[in-house]
Amino acid sequence: NEAWSQGLRWKYHDPAREEEVSWRLSLLGELDAAIDKGEVWIAYQPQYDLRRNQVIGAEALARWTHPDKGPISPAEFIVAAEQQGRITKLTDFVLDRAVSTAAAINRRGTPFTIAVNISPRLLTDRELVGRVKHALARHQLPPERLTLELTETESLQSAEEGLAILDGLRALGVRIAIDDYGTGLSTLDYLKKIPANEIKIDQSFVKGIKVNRSDLIMVQSTIALAHSLGRSVVAEGVEERATLDQLAEMDCDVAQGFLIGRPMGVRELVQALQVRSLRSVA
Ligand code: C2E
Ligand code: MG
Ligand code: MG
Ligand code: MG
Repeated sequence: NEAWSQGLRWKYHDPAREEEVSWRLSLLGELDAAIDKGEVWIAYQPQYDLRRNQVIGAEALARWTHPDKGPISPAEFIVAAEQQGRITKLTDFVLDRAVSTAAAINRRGTPFTIAVNISPRLLTDRELVGRVKHALARHQLPPERLTLELTETESLQSAEEGLAILDGLRALGVRIAIDDYGTGLSTLDYLKKIPANEIKIDQSFVKGIKVNRSDLIMVQSTIALAHSLGRSVVAEGVEERATLDQLAEMDCDVAQGFLIGRPMGVRELVQALQVRSLRSVA
């Protein structure tokens, strides 16, 4: 098909695209070394329990501060690493740091659950279960204090292997969350098959609930559906007080977003935990 091949040719000669490809490739070559050099670090974004009105945990988000290029977004380097099958070292690093931080906070007597993002690609990695187990044992974190966040993908639905690995993770006693819920394909099918404890409603729905009636209805019915299935609900992207109040009214379990706290360093996180309640955190 000529139009198609012309489109393809055009694509290959698009300088902006070439630049993007080479930028991604050069990033990738540097990522593992960057981890060793300490350029990659973890930001923690607080998660807030809407019934108890307190911070109960945080999500670990990878950050790369490049010495020349400055801060690089995870959207940039994680997609590149995933495409090349080079996400393992980054995941191990994030798991180790995040589990270590959570263990230290729990030892001080503050119940604290840490959420770590796991690339769905890793659900083909038979060693994942062992590596998660190892991280928990190394820092002596109770498994129920770790949540693994998985983004919806088509690949997982069909893969028996992925589901077996998920069962292995569940057997360890860690929690499973479906991330960015509502944005993937075949959402209901996914919800049925994945043994998740928690679903995280994508921020694109949460942001609109104050002004957009259909967003409100979708969030509300998702909460009801999740609760009927025995899962808890986290709302992502909470930026305004009115949204938070609305979510509490709809019986949402947990909120996360800039209103409660931006992704922050460990020191700030510990401070946020000392105050815990929203008035002081926000
Ligand atoms: P995610 O897991 O859905 O994480 C939530 C993203 O939303 C974060 O972006 C966070 O900074 C942002 N966010 C949180 N609250 C608000 C808000 O109120 N308003 C707005 N506008 N944004 C908010 P971030 O840190 O840039 O991460 C982007 C994505 O990169 C993450 O989406 C996750 O999929 C991926 N990611 C980050 N760290 C890791 C990691 O260690 N491993 C893997 N596999 N993926 C990661
Ligand atoms: Mg996440
Ligand atoms: Mg998300
Ligand atoms: Mg996301």
